[in-house]
Amino acid sequence: MSNDQQYKPATQAVWAGEQRLFEGNATQVPVVHSVSFGYDDMEEWMDVALGNKPGHIYSRNTNPTVDVFEEKVRVLEHAEAATSASTGMGIISSTLFTLLAPGDRVVSVKDTYGGTNRLFTEFLPRQNVNVTLCDTMDEDEVEAEVAKGCNVLYLETPTNPTIKIVDLERLARVGKAAGAVVIVDNTFATPINQNPLLLGADLVVHSATKFMGGHADALGGVVAGKEELIKRIYGYREIVGGTLHPMSAYLLLRGMKTMHLRIQRQNENAQALAEFLSGHPNVERVLYPGLPDHPGHDIARKQMRGFGGMLSFIVKGNTFEDAARCLTRLKLARRAANLGSVETIAGPPATTSHVECTAEERAAMGIPESLIRYSVGIEDVEDLKADLDQALR
Ligand SMILES: *Cc1c(COP(=O)(O)O)cnc(C)c1O
Repeated sequence: MSNDQQYKPATQAVWAGEQRLFEGNATQVPVVHSVSFGYDDMEEWMDVALGNKPGHIYSRNTNPTVDVFEEKVRVLEHAEAATSASTGMGIISSTLFTLLAPGDRVVSVKDTYGGTNRLFTEFLPRQNVNVTLCDTMDEDEVEAEVAKGCNVLYLETPTNPTIKIVDLERLARVGKAAGAVVIVDNTFATPINQNPLLLGADLVVHSATKFMGGHADALGGVVAGKEELIKRIYGYREIVGGTLHPMSAYLLLRGMKTMHLRIQRQNENAQALAEFLSGHPNVERVLYPGLPDHPGHDIARKQMRGFGGMLSFIVKGNTFEDAARCLTRLKLARRAANLGSVETIAGPPATTSHVECTAEERAAMGIPESLIRYSVGIEDVEDLKADLDQALR
């Protein structure tokens, strides 16, 4: 623990959890597919089973490959501990269901990821958990609701797909004062651009499926933070059973080694494209925190080291068909419900982040019908500019 933060993030992304040799002196993390781990010595088996000695018993609980993935995230997020699940939603639901019991109250914002929003609007209320969702941009409202008393304050920034910025330092302070556990979904920013725990949050959650893995070939989720909380979440996830697969853990680990390089490039590409699109005659508006006229720009500058690889833009005309026409013409973008990969990915909220909502619900959330969510890849930025230009004309 004491030496955790001796290195900078680019070094941590490569070395954290891997500063040793593995089985048979392997320099790379082995993918341990074994379901169980055997002990010829009964006493040793007991010690490991009771947690008095490090080791593994059964891979639904812990696994050597998964351990390394959790350790890398733990170090990158400046956390005491970390635990994982099979998907981002797996870890978000495990975290919320661990911390909330019938009669409890959670305060969050309206612009959380679509799946998380479903937990708030459907699955938690069904367990008699009281949910209050505030206007994402109205920090006074969040503050007032939290002050009424709550068990969990759940935040996300930048948000999906409207790229709103939430003031983490201010709201974490408010949450703490109310005795709430403060959770932040850091998927869009990644630990390279933002560390919510350093801004006062208790727990940080990620869909590792996105920028962490970075290659759109493995699902995974992870939560990092206070050891006492992580132990409880692990205890729930272990029994509910949504365990991260060792092969996925390996793919995510491999992707994470280049995370710093990728995110730097994606930050640069996104900034250049946001500026380019802002001046484009067929674009109504660009949503990117790196633009000085973005309403969250000052807070983003305060709490982020880079503005991220996600941007959204609203095509002139303002109908779904206007967005669809542009999307169909893009040559350098996967039209898919994903984000954070090395290749550029674009889509409308209707088939991606807010596929669960009706057109009326999206309108009520303030999501324009001609909005395109654009996850910027690591391609040459001039090629991406030219591609966007031809698609918009
Ligand atoms: C994708 C995503 C999730 C859910 O992650 P899965 O790995 O798809 O389950 C949660 N939060 C955010 C911000 C996401 O983009």
